[in-house]
Amino acid sequence: MTSPYHKILIITAPSGAGKTSISKHLMTIFPQLQFSVSAATRKARSNEKDGVDYHFMTLDTFKEKIVKNEFIEWEMVYDGKYYGTLKSELEKIWSQNKIPVLDIDVKGAIHVQREYPIKTLSIFIEPPSIEELKARLTSRGSETDDSIKARIGKASYEITFKDQFDEVIVNENLEKACKEAESLVKKFIEMED
Ligand code: 5GP
Repeated sequence: MTSPYHKILIITAPSGAGKTSISKHLMTIFPQLQFSVSAATRKARSNEKDGVDYHFMTLDTFKEKIVKNEFIEWEMVYDGKYYGTLKSELEKIWSQNKIPVLDIDVKGAIHVQREYPIKTLSIFIEPPSIEELKARLTSRGSETDDSIKARIGKASYEITFKDQFDEVIVNENLEKACKEAESLVKKFIEMED
């Protein structure tokens, strides 16, 4: 059974704001944290591994899992591409006495937070500006112009939700943002179960 009394750490942000770098940093510092591998229907990028970065699956398989109620949350994050947090993934992490780290989009994060408000820490990573976000997405080299446009449009909308999260960190300087996140997460880990 998925329990509301287990801790969950949510790191959310518009795409390109640096949430993955910050999540990865936190996981190297705190062995208690474990990345929650999401299900996704997009194609794996060349540097990604199935079961490590995502559980890559077809849309049919994903839809089957929706029907079987296997997700804590799921969203169609980009045009026809579905992403979701599997209940089984969180249960596996909790059974190892670890805290799952959900690196998920803003809508999904709001959803999880609503459903599991008791022991969840949600951190919103804010990009310093939309111009800077555009520059970061372009320099990734993995996105097409259309995909960058879609991500920028979505980012502007997502930033309007930042006040719904427990904490907001502006990622102007990655090192500084990591340090801020570290101190918040340290307190959260030390909080009594
Ligand atoms: P990407 O395609 O760049 O890996 O991820 C696209 C977006 O989907 C990112 O904002 C990422 O955090 C988000 N995402 C990844 N996994 C999940 C998930 O399980 N649920 C939701 N709602 N969003 C996710």
